[in-house]
Amino acid sequence: MQNTEEENINKLEQAHIDFISTVSHELRTPLTSIRGFAETLLSSYDRLTPEQREKFLQIIKDQSNRLINLVENLLTVSKMQVNKELMVYKTTDIVPLTETVIQMIKSQYKTHYYKFEYEKNLPKILVDTDKFQQIMINLIDNASKYSDEGTTVTVEIKQNYVENKVEITVKDEGSGIDPKDIDKIFNKFSRIDSPLTRKIQGNGLGLYITKNLVEKMDGEIYVKSSEQGSEFKVVFKEATPEDSGKKKINE
Ligand code: ADP
Repeated sequence: MQNTEEENINKLEQAHIDFISTVSHELRTPLTSIRGFAETLLSSYDRLTPEQREKFLQIIKDQSNRLINLVENLLTVSKMQVNKELMVYKTTDIVPLTETVIQMIKSQYKTHYYKFEYEKNLPKILVDTDKFQQIMINLIDNASKYSDEGTTVTVEIKQNYVENKVEITVKDEGSGIDPKDIDKIFNKFSRIDSPLTRKIQGNGLGLYITKNLVEKMDGEIYVKSSEQGSEFKVVFKEATPEDSGKKKINE
């Protein structure tokens, strides 16, 4: 008995140590880069060409964004862990919301193509609109960053008439996820160790947060992947007439 308790405490301590070490590493890498480029700009400003200055400033901006994303993701995760995530549910037409996310991501990945296909007169669903957008941002951003320039990301919204559900699919033409890794991608801080992932920025929190939010909103998430690309599907129940016009808030 004593032993099991001790083992559990050790496991918890180890999990904390691993967490601190992962976060510190995630913080140190962009900070080192920001400090390095800022120092170079300060010490050699006159010797640098305007193009070099611009390039270094761009790196500082990108790395700062990476830090902001990490901190925002960590805050979301910590709220999730203590179940303090405020959810504001509303019956929602998800087509314009999804369109906004696609436009936003399109402006960041100018060399990708985006296709948005949806059925007419789709039923509304009961979701927290900010959290729904966060889910779509994570999935469409991943589809874009893990596929090559010039390929197409397709977002599709369909009605499942049999189960009274709405299905949103995000498909890419990237090189996919190895079947042996597929179960790990929804874990906290889990990044797949492949040459592709190594050269792409990320902190392994996006899909963990996504799955958590989908399930909190009573939805389901599925993934299919092959060497031709990956497909993430999110399924929500149609809003019922009783849901309509209601604003449900819970913590
Ligand atoms: P991040 O992108 O920050 O690493 P995520 O939690 O969003 O973290 O994804 C976890 C891992 O799953 C990624 O590191 C990547 O290896 C893999 N992954 C996610 N989406 C895709 C995708 N569309 N295509 C290929 N691999 C993906």
